[in-house]
Amino acid sequence: MGKYQDFYRRSIEDRDAFWAEQAQFIHWEKAPELICDYSNPPFVKWFKGGLTNLCYNAVDRHAAKRPDAPALIYVSTETGEEKTYSYGELQREVERMAAIYRRLGVEKGDRVLIYMPMIPQAAFAMLACVRIGAIHSVVFGGFAAASLATRIDDAQPKLVVTAEAGMRNGNVIPYKHLLDEACRLAQFPPEKVLIVDRGLDPNFARVEGRDLDYATLRDEVGEARVPVEWVDATHPSYILYTSGTTGKPKGVQRDTGGYAVALASSMKHIFCGGEGETMFCTSDIGWVVGHGYIIYGPLLAGMATVMYEGTPLRPDPGIWWRIVEKYRVNVMFSAPTAVRVLKKQDPSYMKRDLSSLKHLFLAGEPLDETTHRWIHEALGVPVIDNYWQTESGWPILALCRGVQEDLPIKYGSPGLPVYGYDLHVYREDGTECGPNEKGIVGIVPPLPPGCLATVWGQDERFVSTYFSLFREPLVYSTADWGIKDENGYLTILGRIDDVINVAGHRLGTREIEEAIQANPAIAEVAVVGVHDEVKGQVPVAFTVVKDPSRIATREARRALEEEVKKTVDELLGAIARPHRVYFVQGLPKTRSGKMLRRSLQALAEGRDPGDLPTIEDAHTLEMVAEAIRES
Ligand code: ATP
Ligand code: MG
Repeated sequence: MGKYQDFYRRSIEDRDAFWAEQAQFIHWEKAPELICDYSNPPFVKWFKGGLTNLCYNAVDRHAAKRPDAPALIYVSTETGEEKTYSYGELQREVERMAAIYRRLGVEKGDRVLIYMPMIPQAAFAMLACVRIGAIHSVVFGGFAAASLATRIDDAQPKLVVTAEAGMRNGNVIPYKHLLDEACRLAQFPPEKVLIVDRGLDPNFARVEGRDLDYATLRDEVGEARVPVEWVDATHPSYILYTSGTTGKPKGVQRDTGGYAVALASSMKHIFCGGEGETMFCTSDIGWVVGHGYIIYGPLLAGMATVMYEGTPLRPDPGIWWRIVEKYRVNVMFSAPTAVRVLKKQDPSYMKRDLSSLKHLFLAGEPLDETTHRWIHEALGVPVIDNYWQTESGWPILALCRGVQEDLPIKYGSPGLPVYGYDLHVYREDGTECGPNEKGIVGIVPPLPPGCLATVWGQDERFVSTYFSLFREPLVYSTADWGIKDENGYLTILGRIDDVINVAGHRLGTREIEEAIQANPAIAEVAVVGVHDEVKGQVPVAFTVVKDPSRIATREARRALEEEVKKTVDELLGAIARPHRVYFVQGLPKTRSGKMLRRSLQALAEGRDPGDLPTIEDAHTLEMVAEAIRES
């Protein structure tokens, strides 16, 4: 492990020199005066005194050198559109969007909320913001009016950019209508709304004086040139809300210089992507992964990025692999939850020419050992699990194969701490865990470049949410539970909130889920702790089977339940044995694919799961309730 170890050690022990080198990946209009200003812990200012621009680095500098090289490849299986923008074309579109912003009075520091489907104009809208120093706040298009309204009130945007509609699974989603409702609910509605009219919802309403048509304004501004605004390295580039899995979402505020450096450096050291290559990240621009690895990361590296509007299953489960084949994708990035969906399909869909593909990266949720192994074998390329948070902006744990190519993969583990992160596993008293001892994953500040600068408008919340784990030492808490093995590889065991306490034994939901996944009949599982008079809590499992005929009758269900319990007994011991194993058709998840364990727990304890605005499919809750009733 030598080469990476040295690289990592240098990033911690010779921090400023290390990051000064990484800063060379981007263009600085004025070089930083100070690499790291940590005079006000836990706040940190990276590359202080430097002037740069995210859009210039992502677009202009490539457009100047390689105007005809592909930059943005748009593929929609919802509308059938497919279009490639070169770097030159991308720059022109971004400048026209920026000219529209200027006309509407958007200035440096103003917020622009972007509520859009996965269409090229969403990318133009983001890049145009950072071009002129405006701060974007992208809200995932799947969120309904109430969630959108709270984010509008928090960011207080001058302008909202939207489309009249999106499409999902062939159904039209009335974005503009949802936005109108959100504006009614909001205390601080925007002055102006810019609408990309796709012609999908001919009857959408327009508010006189507030609503403006993008195509009309685009024509009016013509081939406008809008120079980039050089901003301070610490100038906010965007606000993005966390997924809200554990409660009220936090508005993560990102800087400009640190973020550009972290992403550009990660493209080489983690994602192994370079100029002229193609990246396909299947996330959505509404999530942190989409910000970093659909938009900024690949463009900073001069790559072509695939922007995909559609699901992994339509028109059939082979669609992603056909995109990889057609566009000769080199780097792919997706989520475990999507892989588990594909695992239930006919594997022949994956038999395409995937020879361009170097790696598949997965992040967002625990990747269990069984699924990790399966996708690795099915694709025949290394599958790199990586762990991060909206807060971090780029991976915290991964295998940096761009630094050392032969870093071994450990199935079920997102690997080693990424350079820059002084990461440790802690006991609850603030002392450090030994190897193979479970604890809380923490990072010694200063957080590296790219991580959140603060919570938007709430500095105290930044300190109290992330830095109050112990009185001593000062540590950033990930609020995730983990374990480090003797080689330094970590495994994430679940969120602190999700720990199950069985008669004083603390079990990570992840450990039990991992054991259950080892049973070949099971496609997907969620484990929650349920109140028990005697033991305090007992684990209860909700599972999705690969083959529904295995659970056709009550007897069959009972038999499989016993089998699953036995699997857990064998792998973890009787203490972890689920009290009940329920079989369901689908599990409740957020729109970003994260398991809503709290709602499962509520149902299992006979409580109301409450209002879940971020849920992907509310029907899953009914199915869960029914499975509990029926058994
Ligand atoms: P909120 O903070 O609002 O409750 P959230 O934590 O779900 O929402 P995100 O920032 O999108 O919001 O998710 C980060 C979390 O996702 C991590 O803290 C961790 O629990 C989980 N996670 C991400 N990647 C991985 C991974 N590779 N392995 C295990 N868990 C992961
Ligand atoms: Mg979180």
